[in-house]
Amino acid sequence: MPREILLADGRSVEVDCLSCALTSGLITPTGGVIFESSNFHVHQDVGYPIRGLVIIASKRHFYCIDELTEEEQSEYMALIHKVRQKQRERLGIEKVYYFYNEDTTHHFHLWMVPRYEWMNRLGRSVESLRPVLLHARNEMNTEENMKGVMEGIHLLREALRAEIDGS
Ligand SMILES: [Zn+2]
Repeated sequence: MPREILLADGRSVEVDCLSCALTSGLITPTGGVIFESSNFHVHQDVGYPIRGLVIIASKRHFYCIDELTEEEQSEYMALIHKVRQKQRERLGIEKVYYFYNEDTTHHFHLWMVPRYEWMNRLGRSVESLRPVLLHARNEMNTEENMKGVMEGIHLLREALRAEIDGS
């Protein structure tokens, strides 16, 4: 079923799959693309304003991990590794929670949610994911916090691109 979505610039487009529209560049996520590899696309969902939170989505339209080709499997692990390394080096992120559900309404995408001190009062491990994300969405959409989030996107983008350019 095609869905009607409203772009940030006011235009509205009809898309069959939001993830395809995003990874093909039809829609630009707020804050821009952090990184693109042959088969994957890295961006932040600023709807959950947590500095360093990253989503790695496949460009190809599929849902389950056993649908990854061999090429995608190795590219995927190398990419997660690289993003995680940059989160640590550039943003000082010590621990990350990973979340991925195959019954998504989008397609294959991994959430990398940095773990910060303030999250501890909302619980630990997988049970804390929902309260943490809701808290971020409802309470952290401030100008000051968003500045930090945008800076995080910028730092990760710079770090990942520098690596590819070999500089
Ligand atoms: Zn798709």
